[in-house]
Amino acid sequence: MENTNYKLAAWPAIVHAKCPRCRRGDMFANSMYGFHGQEMNKTCSHCNLSFEREPGYFYVAMFVSYAFNVAEMVTLAVAISVLTGSHNPWVYCGIILGVVVLLAPFNFRYSRVLLLHWLTPGLHYVPEMSKDH
Ligand SMILES: [Zn+2]
Repeated sequence: MENTNYKLAAWPAIVHAKCPRCRRGDMFANSMYGFHGQEMNKTCSHCNLSFEREPGYFYVAMFVSYAFNVAEMVTLAVAISVLTGSHNPWVYCGIILGVVVLLAPFNFRYSRVLLLHWLTPGLHYVPEMSKDH
């Protein structure tokens, strides 16, 4: 008999920035938009996983964040072109810069979430870890 009651789905865990191994503990200590910047927990409060796999590990997240930025800028440029038909470069620069600044906390958070959930070899969801202690 296999008991799958404690298995947690991947998407909610990613959206809510949960631990990649147990999908229970929070990766971040505070909310995405606030005055104090985002503080990341060092270890998972539920399964004790160390989020920073090795010193400087989140340097890699900068590349993920960069990819996010490029994807957002291209999407925005196409959207502005389709919606306004403008040929004024200042319209594009203004809107894109504004949105990129607004999205910076989002990029910061989800670049790290995706890095740990999808791009880290040897780090996988372990359903047993989702159990209550
Ligand atoms: Zn965990």
